Amino acid sequence: MTGVPDEIERLWTPHRLEYIKADSSSSDECPFDVAPTKPDEESLVVARGTVVYAVLNLYPYNPGHLLICPYRHVADYTELTDDETAEIATFTQKAMRMVRSVSGAHGFNIGLNQGSVAGAGIAAHLHQHVVPRWGGDTNFMPVVGRTKVLPQLLTDTRKLFADAWS
Ligand SMILES: [Zn+2]
Repeated sequence: MTGVPDEIERLWTPHRLEYIKADSSSSDECPFDVAPTKPDEESLVVARGTVVYAVLNLYPYNPGHLLICPYRHVADYTELTDDETAEIATFTQKAMRMVRSVSGAHGFNIGLNQGSVAGAGIAAHLHQHVVPRWGGDTNFMPVVGRTKVLPQLLTDTRKLFADAWS
């Protein structure tokens, strides 16, 4: 089966970098620092915790692809405080329950890309991926990855998720 990567390898392929909405007026700023300073509807923030928040990925691998980030600009998992580590775990559980209830996801890919070499698109600011999976979704994933996402669709998804979060 040489040359036929499995689903997970394809999902985490480094060239499929993730991005979130960049502020064109200040491209030097870290988008994960900027997102929580904006209205949720604009930044696509789904839920805000004490030390972390959950935001929709602007370029999802799959519909409903969430990123869970500490507010603090920190790159490496080993640098997280105990509070940040615990709340990322809590938010991951809440996100899974919420996405299951809203969309009936069959499974998830959850994880951290640590460093550019591992495929992190924004390596300087840690973000945990929560990617919903459905049976048979692998066939359209490459299409999704190359299709321009309609902003309105993400806005609708954000509201649906935010309402279901609590
Ligand atoms: Zn940052």
